[in-house]
Amino acid sequence: SARPPAMAEAAMAARVPPDEDGDECLPQYRHLLSPDLLAGQVAFITGGGSGIGFRIAEIFMRHGCRTVIASRNLQRVSEASKKLVAATGQQCLPLSMDVRQPQTIVAAVDEALKEFKRIDILINGAAGNFLCPASALSFNAFKTVIDIDTMGTFNTSKVLFEKYFRDHGGVIVNITATLSYRGQALQVHAGAAKAAIDAMTRHLAVEWGPNNIRVNSLAPGPITGTEGFRRLGGRFAEKSNQFSVIPLQRAGNKTEIAHSTLYLASPLSSYVTGTTLVVDGGSWLTSPNSFSALLGIASSSAK
Ligand code: NAP
Repeated sequence: SARPPAMAEAAMAARVPPDEDGDECLPQYRHLLSPDLLAGQVAFITGGGSGIGFRIAEIFMRHGCRTVIASRNLQRVSEASKKLVAATGQQCLPLSMDVRQPQTIVAAVDEALKEFKRIDILINGAAGNFLCPASALSFNAFKTVIDIDTMGTFNTSKVLFEKYFRDHGGVIVNITATLSYRGQALQVHAGAAKAAIDAMTRHLAVEWGPNNIRVNSLAPGPITGTEGFRRLGGRFAEKSNQFSVIPLQRAGNKTEIAHSTLYLASPLSSYVTGTTLVVDGGSWLTSPNSFSALLGIASSSAK
């Protein structure tokens, strides 16, 4: 395949913000935007203890935001919070909740409001996924993914609306995926769940726009250093050089997703609502969707 010349490659590399694979903060960070872009604001981030959600929390905190990171595993969010505070000097409140259980969301949002007196931004990042052909997917497995991704996003958005956004306005960013755009093999559960969230994004943008609430989706492509990447055959794609079919010739990283989320959460996008921002290097346009090849990955990664 045609490789870009060395000079262009070096310039390209310089424009890609570096990242860390594990759930660790970045050893150094160069601001591309004003460090006080989110000063005084508070973001409530579900799934903020790991992967993409962790990096979103870090980048928001590096822009002056205080954060609440919430997921089921209190130890996970507590450890993440310590790292985030140490790296950024901002406050971060770790809370345990299950997006499938509205009463746990209510308790978490109450606690967050008691601590910070405000919530400006909601990031719905909590999700679960795995590769599985529809024929092997149990009724319960399909339901579980819909419960966490779709219901979880609705439940959390509704609680935030009732507790704070209805009267004060706010910004919601739903982390979705491009899986449904071409009917990705082995992904009927997650593809259907995320497509429903993109629909929800438009419905809520319409109903809640008059309350000064913006609602958008961000759909990442393959992102290195994440559970999603590990589970969905990212390593395999890397090894077999499948990323050369992606227009930008590579997987994305968590900082790149966090930067695009920062755009959608900040006043930079003050007139943007009801839309989905695809952040995938052009991946969904060109990546293979081979049922049999993915079956091979699924059976080898299950071992
Ligand atoms: P991840 O680290 O596994 O993040 C998922 C998070 O959701 C975890 O922190 C988990 O924490 C939380 N969670 C799961 N079930 C929950 C529940 N019932 N209630 C509350 N929290 C729950 O995965 P990731 O790969 O970074 O993915 C983050 C987001 O990006 C997801 O929405 C994913 O669909 C999306 N995405 C990722 C990729 C990728 O390449 N990685 C591509 C497209 C889209 P607990 O276990 O503590 O609950």
